[in-house]
Amino acid sequence: MTLLTGGCQCGAIRFAFPLSAATHSSICHCRMCQKAFGAFYAPLVNVRADQLTWTRGQRKLYRSSNHVSRGFCADCGTPLTYEPDGENPAVAIGALDTPSAVPPTMQYGVENKIGYVDGVSALPAETTASTVTPGSYLGDITSYQHPDHDTAAWPPAKG
Ligand SMILES: [Zn+2]
Ligand SMILES: [Zn+2]
Repeated sequence: MTLLTGGCQCGAIRFAFPLSAATHSSICHCRMCQKAFGAFYAPLVNVRADQLTWTRGQRKLYRSSNHVSRGFCADCGTPLTYEPDGENPAVAIGALDTPSAVPPTMQYGVENKIGYVDGVSALPAETTASTVTPGSYLGDITSYQHPDHDTAAWPPAKG
């Protein structure tokens, strides 16, 4: 069984589910998903509710409509879920430790797609390493982001 794990940026919230419990992977361009994710669109994978386990902490829920709640980390703000009443939840694909494991197969809410989104992949591109110059903050940066795997201790030791 392949177990997918993930969590928020700070690591206060962690979750897990078997890959076999992922039923559908998609992106949603609707205005509410844009707002909830602070992004061009929301990448979401539907997961069978009884197989999604919260392994560290508890998400906070925001009631975004009369039928849906959205989960996020109250400590760092990472969007984590889309949870319609009485239906399976969806998990934010970018919060997975391996987002590549659940490639989207459908787009929703395309009437609200932002016009330039389709052109993003054609933009000029560069690697992070190529932008590091002596004396720049990137050359001296220390990440406090939780690593892309489960950890024994919380909070993690910094340094
Ligand atoms: Zn967090
Ligand atoms: Zn949406």
